[in-house]
Amino acid sequence: MFLKIDDMLQDQFNRTVKYLRVSVTDRCDFRCVYCMAEEMEFVPREQLLTLEELNEITRAFVELGVNKVRITGGEPLVRRDIDQLFENLGQLKGLDELTLTTNGSQLPKYAGKLVKSGVKRINISLDSLNKDLFKELTRTGNLDHVLAGIDSAINAGLKVKLNSVVLKNRNVDEVINLVDYAVTKGIDISFIEEMPLGVIAEHARDEEFISSDKLRKIIEAKYQLTKLETDNSNAGPSKYWAVSQNNTATSSRVGFISPHSDNFCSTCNRVRLTATGQLLLCLGNEHSVDLKAVVRNYPKDTDRLKQTIIAAMGIKPERHYFELSDEPEILRFMNTTGG
Ligand code: SAM
Ligand code: SF4
Repeated sequence: MFLKIDDMLQDQFNRTVKYLRVSVTDRCDFRCVYCMAEEMEFVPREQLLTLEELNEITRAFVELGVNKVRITGGEPLVRRDIDQLFENLGQLKGLDELTLTTNGSQLPKYAGKLVKSGVKRINISLDSLNKDLFKELTRTGNLDHVLAGIDSAINAGLKVKLNSVVLKNRNVDEVINLVDYAVTKGIDISFIEEMPLGVIAEHARDEEFISSDKLRKIIEAKYQLTKLETDNSNAGPSKYWAVSQNNTATSSRVGFISPHSDNFCSTCNRVRLTATGQLLLCLGNEHSVDLKAVVRNYPKDTDRLKQTIIAAMGIKPERHYFELSDEPEILRFMNTTGG
């Protein structure tokens, strides 16, 4: 089948794909308990897309109408020479937003370079402000390094949003501290319900589940939250509340990403590229297309690459169904998926 390459990326449920998340590595300097097993086998380096291939595929998406790209992983900032990719992507015409999700540990080194490449806002993951608990949750992370990373991002002029995964029996007591911290820094924070991606031994996913509604009630013991209208043009999964304290508005918002309790698939505008070049059409399903095979077997054949991408939209599933069982249907870990 020949598909016109000026077609927009439209799926069979009338959703237009405008947002690509690109995992540049499955490796990471942390081993967060909800994301990875303690002992992980990482993909051999030769199976990863090269920086040139990552650039080529991302450029094809942008030429097909994608206007937002998020670089993620694994930890994107542990990939060697990653600043070159940012520099190249920052020059793509038609790309309105280039951003990243990071654990923050490498930001003192990279924040300035990111700004120079045109990055304006970033997400930084932070699940606890207690050093010991932070260490327990990340296994290898150092809280001081991450806090220094957050400061260097803010000082470099980046707009920062924090992301926290909350586990019922581990870091619920940190929720208010995290909101306090966000308010003090004048930044936003989103709380994420844990998703059952990959088999982990550390905890049973269902025992750690706490819904966004419960978290909101916890926060409302100290802050007044006012629901904000969703901006449908951006169709993100986060629903936001304005934060006031003692009836005085703060400049922070609290968001909730609720893959279990508030399904957001009907407005999904995104697809994911794994570090090995698999195009994943949905976070919670295995439907995928091998783009690495296309760029390796047909180098520089941009039309073929674009037609493969357009055709892939036909298998984007309608929605995900997450079950909180010990045997998840999705065996890939979040670091492989590109969270
Ligand atoms: N290493 C970077 C970081 O941690 O920000 C980027 C990759 S990480 C996979 C992206 C996001 O996915 C992080 O905010 C992390 O907390 C979240 N995440 C990882 N595993 C998850 C899971 N099982 N359920 C929900 N969120 C998860
Ligand atoms: Fe690494 Fe991010 Fe996964 Fe934590 S959530 S292990 S920082 S990839």
